[in-house]
This record gives sequence, structure tokens and C-alpha cells, in this order.
Amino acid sequence: MMRCYKQKKNGDRMLKGPFIDAKEIINKIEKNGHQAYYVGGCVRDLLLQRPIGDIDIATSAPPTKILEIFDHVIPVGMEHGTVIVRQKGVSYEVTTFRVEGNYSDHRHPDTVQFIDQIDKDLERRDFTINALAMNREGCIIDLFDGKADLYKKVIRTVGNGVERFYEDPLRIIRALRFSSQLGFQIETNTLTAMNQVKHQILTIAIERMTTEMSKLVQGKYVHHGFAYLQKTKIYDYLPILKKHPYIIDKISTKIKPLGSLSELFALFYMIETSISISTWVKSWKCSNKVRREASHLVDALKYYEKNGLNQWLVYQLPSEYHDGFVRLVNLVFENLSVSKTEVASYERTLPIRSKKELDIDGNDLVELFPHLNRGPWIQHKLQELEKEVVFGKLNNNRNLLKEWIKWNPPEIN
Ligand code: ATP
Ligand code: MG
Repeated sequence: MMRCYKQKKNGDRMLKGPFIDAKEIINKIEKNGHQAYYVGGCVRDLLLQRPIGDIDIATSAPPTKILEIFDHVIPVGMEHGTVIVRQKGVSYEVTTFRVEGNYSDHRHPDTVQFIDQIDKDLERRDFTINALAMNREGCIIDLFDGKADLYKKVIRTVGNGVERFYEDPLRIIRALRFSSQLGFQIETNTLTAMNQVKHQILTIAIERMTTEMSKLVQGKYVHHGFAYLQKTKIYDYLPILKKHPYIIDKISTKIKPLGSLSELFALFYMIETSISISTWVKSWKCSNKVRREASHLVDALKYYEKNGLNQWLVYQLPSEYHDGFVRLVNLVFENLSVSKTEVASYERTLPIRSKKELDIDGNDLVELFPHLNRGPWIQHKLQELEKEVVFGKLNNNRNLLKEWIKWNPPEIN
């Protein structure tokens, strides 16, 4: 008999917000004769009173049935039992109760078997705090004392740690990720098992690890995650870091929550300049967006190291990276710091936001110096002008800019 605890204290709060909307999906599945529960991270975060991320639903209905009863379904992983149901602009992952075979490709289980009871589905989940389910009335199913672990603030595997980590070594990185997000301790046996199985991390598809690392570096308690990373020497099995472990040693005591993996790579680069951003991005199989952001941040940090904070730095760095830059300055440079307010006040007073706003362009320069051939001098001159304007030394006025150029003509050798 499955125990079910009703959350009396949270009763009212529980079915507010995202849970109310998702309840329509649960109701509809139940009306069609199947079971459905809120499951995993959303139940955990509800009990912790943390902001709820995505709402995941577990159901006894096979994916074909979900396709049939809802109008807007995206069949993202039918063979694994997962579809996305879209409702009022929100996506819900609806997954059929299942048990899994081996993860021999280290991405997906080789086989999954759909089942019609939730208990075995909860048993396949990684940690007790993630193996909670809740029905539409707010009754919690807690087969592995996940609630007790939430209150004790511990991360503990469902079942035998060594077996569970062998089954899918990504769970080792996930343990670090949850300790970083929640500030929880990793329970002793789980930690021992992580140490025993950590070499298996080498077999994980890197993209899966990158997703977890990205969440890890953004965790509110990232210093917990990094302390474990250092203590367990799990970095010995991570790309690049295995050859340069001192990078982690150097930052694990002072790390603070970052905004993205790009910020982490920029930080790593500032610690070890012999490893380029490109190398980090390639080894961790990250996107070009990560590469671009990390490069921008590194350029800004290097410029800051030489010149300090000024209009030109703020102008050159796209606004969406300003917060990341502030975080990194405070981490990278001892005894130096900048604040978001300082950066914002420079930004507010910038006379122009981009080169396009300059009241003069390349054609004007060609007209001013008809005897010169087109060439790199045009870009150089425009950048000189841009700097003068950004620093407020010159007004962004066509005539004044032309006048300035006459007095500062291009030097062509
Ligand atoms: P977040 O709030 O960051 O999304 P989450 O707990 O929902 O956290 P997900 O990665 O979205 O984490 O996974 C959803 C649920 O699926 C988890 O709570 C867990 O029950 C289960 N799960 C995910 N990945 C694994 C895994 N590798 N092994 C076992 N169970 C997993
Ligand atoms: Mg989730």
C-alpha cells in the first residue's frame, strides 16, 4: 500500500500558480482512465518553497494515449515515453511510468518498459529528493524518505549508490549540481559511491555533462558544489581540468554564483591563459553563443586589467554581459571591484551606443581625402573618432567630426 501525505500546511499554497494550470492536464488524463502525478523537481521545489522550474508529469497513460487526448502535443521522445503537452503557452513534459534497461550509449537507456504503477518509476530516479510525486489533491508519494532528506538537507541516491552511479555516471555530476543549487550535503554513502565510480564519468556524453555543469555554476551555493568537486577530485575526469586541476583548487574557495558556462570559461581563461576560449568551448562541446560571450568577457577583463573601468569598456561590451563582467572582475582581481551601478551609470551617459550612430561614415572619409585609396585607414580613423566621441572629447556632430579629421588626417606610409 502506497503511503500518501497530504501537505496540510502548504495545502492552500500548493495548488497555486503553475500547479493550477498543470492540474488541467492531470484531470484530463485521469478522466481518460489513467493515473497522473506531478513528479520530480517541481515537487521537491514546492516543498522547499523554491521557485518552481518546469512542471513534469508522470502518467500510466502510454504516449500514444497522450497524443490522442491532447490537441497540442510534441512527440519529443515517444520511444522513451516522453511527450510535451503545450497548454496556454506553457510546455509540460509528460512521461509514461517506466523502468529502464542499461545506459550502454551513456545517453539513453537501451530499453524502456512502460508500466502502470508509479512505484517502480520513482525507484529509477536518481536521488530521494527527486523521487517525490504528488497527486492533484496535494498528496505526496514519498517511497524513499525524500521528504526527510529535504528537511535534513541531504542528497542521497535511491537505492545502492555504486549501482546507480554505474548505471548512469551523469548522476555523479548531478549530485554536485544539486548540492550547488540547494546547498545540501551529499550523504556519506552516496559520497563514497561517487568516489568509487567517478572514473566512469569519462564515458558520459559530454553534452549531458555540460548541461549539468551549466546549472552547477549558476547554483546559489556554488561554493558547495565546487568544494565537493575539489574534495572528490572529480575534476580528474573532466575535459581539460583533468590536466590542469590547480584551476579548480585556485577558485573553489572563492567561487560565487555565475550567470553561465561562458562566465566560467572566461574565469578559467583568466586563471590559465595558455588554454584558449576556443579550446574550452570545443572540449565541452558548447555553442558559438558561449564562445562569443566568453570572448567578449575576456576582452573586457583584459582591457579592465590595463585601463580600469571607463566609457570605452562599457561601450564595447554588449549590455547583456555587463552583470557577468561585474561578477568576474570581483572574482578575478583581488583588491579590485566594480559594481553594477557603476557600469550602469557609465552606460547611461554614453553619447552613442554603436558605430552606426556615429554622425559620419566611411564614405565621408573617402570624400574628405579623395586622393587616398580605400584601405584599412578608413576603419582606423573611424575607430579613433568613435573613441573620441565615446570618451566625450568630441561631440557627435557631423561638422565637428569632419573638422577633427582635417586636423588629424590619416597617416599613410
Ligand atoms: P531542474 O529544476 O533543474 O529541472 P529537476 O530535478 O527537474 O531539476 P531534471 O534534470 O529536469 O531535474 O530531471 C527531472 C527528473 O527526472 C529528476 O527530478 C529526476 O527524478 C529524474 N532524472 C533526471 N535525470 C536523471 C538521471 N540521470 N537518472 C535518474 N533520474 C533522473
Ligand atoms: Mg526539470
